[in-house]
Amino acid sequence: MAKATTTIRQVLTYQPQHAAWFVANQALFNRVAAFYFEVIAAHEKLLDLSAQEALTALEKLTHATRKNPTPIMPLSAIAEAIPVMFRRAAIHAALGSARSFYTHLSKWHTRKEKAQTRGKPFKERPPVPPRSWNKSATLYSGQWKQRTASSILLKVWTGTCWSWIKVRITGRELPLNQARELDGEMGSPSLVRRGNQWYLHTPIEKTFKTPEKIVTQVTTNQSTRICAIDLNLDHHLAVCTIQTVEGTILATHFISGGRAIHGFRKQLLGQIARNRRKTGILAEDEQDNVDLWNKIRQVDEHIAHLVSARIVQFAVQHEASILVFEHLGNLKPTAGKYSHRGNRKRAFWMKGRIFTFAKYKAWKAGIITSRVNPRQTSRECARCHHLIARYHAGEQASGYTPGAPLALCPACGMQGNVDRNASLVIGQRLMMRVLNSQEKPSTPLLAEREEKSSGVAICQEAKSEEEPSFPQARHAECNEHGTAQRRDARMDVSLLDIPHPLRLFTE
Ligand SMILES: [Zn+2]
Repeated sequence: MAKATTTIRQVLTYQPQHAAWFVANQALFNRVAAFYFEVIAAHEKLLDLSAQEALTALEKLTHATRKNPTPIMPLSAIAEAIPVMFRRAAIHAALGSARSFYTHLSKWHTRKEKAQTRGKPFKERPPVPPRSWNKSATLYSGQWKQRTASSILLKVWTGTCWSWIKVRITGRELPLNQARELDGEMGSPSLVRRGNQWYLHTPIEKTFKTPEKIVTQVTTNQSTRICAIDLNLDHHLAVCTIQTVEGTILATHFISGGRAIHGFRKQLLGQIARNRRKTGILAEDEQDNVDLWNKIRQVDEHIAHLVSARIVQFAVQHEASILVFEHLGNLKPTAGKYSHRGNRKRAFWMKGRIFTFAKYKAWKAGIITSRVNPRQTSRECARCHHLIARYHAGEQASGYTPGAPLALCPACGMQGNVDRNASLVIGQRLMMRVLNSQEKPSTPLLAEREEKSSGVAICQEAKSEEEPSFPQARHAECNEHGTAQRRDARMDVSLLDIPHPLRLFTE
């Protein structure tokens, strides 16, 4: 079974003095977590144990009971009367940090030894344990009760005592299924501070049937639908097409808004440039125009969420089970004013975000995401794979004008939107790759080599098989076929544990 976690962020409404209590509560949580980090550091062997065993061992070391009246490092030395569940949440937070720190440290040691045995200088600094603790307090059951859609009771440290307070919950609701039950399994909520506002974050874990691998889907079911997406820097941010394995095109969807966001960014970047000119020299290590930069960042992220959500929605609507993008490649440097270069750079980053967001959103809908070689996707005809002419309306249909919207294939007469054509090519490329990888001779030796995902072997294989195909498309395919194959194999695996997604306030 596959899993996906969504964090539901809800706004809390509370009395003004409660904000100070939440601060005190979080400070105590971090003090206790830091204390346990020290305890673990003094007993490193604890990290070899399972989470449950480590918890028991740590409690024995720190918590006084009738059977264990004098623990070695008593927690009561730093704080009195910590509730059990508060302590355990802090222990788990400390264990998490400690595991991460010691893993990094041991990797550093390995790198150092390797450098020394090779007689190379090693200047990398070792990782340091956390100097300050600023974790959000996780509320295990016992620290909260009577949760409804609009309110919850929380047990918090006020700075002087433990107190139950009732707070109101507003904002996004917990997801419910058709039977009006919680859709998924609820994890422990945490009290999170953003600016001056406190939020309740609740992870909801959904379990669903693991989708079949792309190879299986494409080779066993002719009616598998693929949603291919061409991402652009301007005007049409994304162009999506739905096609079946055998190549029938079922639907197209244009997502525009590129120009509007471009104009918005340009305005703000221009403002930043003017401010900079006025103030003269910039202070080192200090971000200038913080508010303007924040605004640009937030809007970029917001648009990326909207576009990615729309892509996945379109795929779901048309029952596609695979999403395919092209690899992003590198941003080509462009000449021009500061605002122009900055704008292009951000538009390029946004493409990356749209892909990342679409990937996790698709996974929640049981859709697998893949990427293909981007080489000449916008220059190739989707029908006959010849090079196309790209031009503006009213101009002669010849040559290749970057940025122009229309395409004409001189070989087969295909005419249409250039981005839609590119999107179709992206989808075909995925299918070609999968099918090519299936056509291997069945010699066990070769099959074995392929299992180890030796990119070179796959590429050579494809070459040696003289199959009547489209020469230049074939060549492009072969060029990076191996790398693409490897990356995707890895990506399918990593999809299984997508980390907690970033969510927008506005979503
Ligand atoms: Zn053509």
